[in-house]
Amino acid sequence: MQVNGSCPPIMAPQIFSSISYSISAFISDIVNFTYELLQNLIVYLFSPAPPPHANVNTTNGPILTGPRIAVIGAGISGVSAAAHCVGHGCDVVLFEARPRHNLGGIWSRVNSTSSLQLYSIMYRFHPAVTWHRGFPNRQRILQEVEKVWKMYMLPAKTRFKTPVRKIERGVDLKWAVKFEGGEEGGFDGVIVAIGTCGDPKMPHFPGQEKFGGQILHSSELDGLDVSGKKVLVVGGGASAIEAVEYAVAGKASKVDILARVSAP
Ligand SMILES: Cc1cc2nc3c(=O)[nH]c(=O)nc-3n(C[C@H](O)[C@H](O)[C@H](O)COP(=O)(O)OP(=O)(O)OC[C@H]3O[C@@H](n4cnc5c(N)ncnc54)[C@H](O)[C@@H]3O)c2cc1C
Repeated sequence: MQVNGSCPPIMAPQIFSSISYSISAFISDIVNFTYELLQNLIVYLFSPAPPPHANVNTTNGPILTGPRIAVIGAGISGVSAAAHCVGHGCDVVLFEARPRHNLGGIWSRVNSTSSLQLYSIMYRFHPAVTWHRGFPNRQRILQEVEKVWKMYMLPAKTRFKTPVRKIERGVDLKWAVKFEGGEEGGFDGVIVAIGTCGDPKMPHFPGQEKFGGQILHSSELDGLDVSGKKVLVVGGGASAIEAVEYAVAGKASKVDILARVSAP
C-alpha cells in the first residue's frame, strides 16, 4: 500500500536548504533594516542643516556670513569638507582641476565595476551619506557625492577646470588662491583635499614593445574582452585582485598574478 502525503527521502535536503535560505534571508533583512535605521539616526543627529533656500543668491548660491574658506579638490574629502563648512555657516569656494564629470575625484575615473573595498559603515564621508549595501559600487558612491554636493548648495560655489597652482597669504593675513588664468583672494582659511591617487601610473617593462598582446592599466578594464585569453596581472594589491576577478568573470583561459613576496 502506498502512503499518501509522505515525502520521498530525496526531498529532505531540499526542504532543509529552503528553510535555511528563508532563515538567512530573514536575518539579512533584519540586519539591513537595522543598518539603514542606524544611518538615518546618524543623518538626523549629526548632519548640519543645509542653508535655508530663502537666502540664496542666483549667481553665488547661499549667502553665508561666516569665515570664507577655499577648498581645493572636489573628491569625497573636498565635497565633504565644503559641505561641513557651509553647514556651519562658512562661505566656501571649491576649486577643482578637472571638469564637472569628475566630481567625486578618483571615483569618477575608475572602472564601472570597481566598488568599495572596506565595509560601507566605515566609509561614511559625511553624516548625510546613506548606504543600502555593504560594498557599494562606483556609481552608487558617485550618487552620494552628488547628493551631498547639491544638498549643501555647492554647485554655485564650485569652480571646475581650475587647477590651483599656488596659495599665498597677504599682508591682511587673508589667503589668495592662484590658478591658471587668475586668482581669487580674501580667504580666512584653506583646506587642501587633492587626494593621494593622482593620474594612473604605468611602469615601462624592458622589451614590452615586442609583446604582441595588450598592456593596460588596472583602471582601464571597462569593455575589455578577456574571453579565452591568457591574462597576467602585475601587482598584488586591491586593484590587482579586482583585475583577477574581472578576468575570471570574463572567462579568461588562464589568469596569473605576478607579485612581490615580502622578506620573511
Ligand atoms: C577602486 C578604488 C577603491 C577604493 N576603495 C577604498 C575603500 O574601500 N576605502 C577607502 O578608505 N578608500 C578607498 N579608496 C581610496 C580612495 O582614494 C579614497 O577613499 C577617496 O576616494 C579619496 O578621496 P579624496 O577626495 O581624498 O581624493 P581624490 O578622490 O583623489 O580627489 C582629489 C581631487 O582633487 C583634485 N585636484 C588635485 N590637484 C588639484 C589642484 N592643484 N587644484 C584643484 N584640484 C586638484 C583632483 O582632480 C581630484 O578631483 C579606493 C580607491 C579606488 C581607486
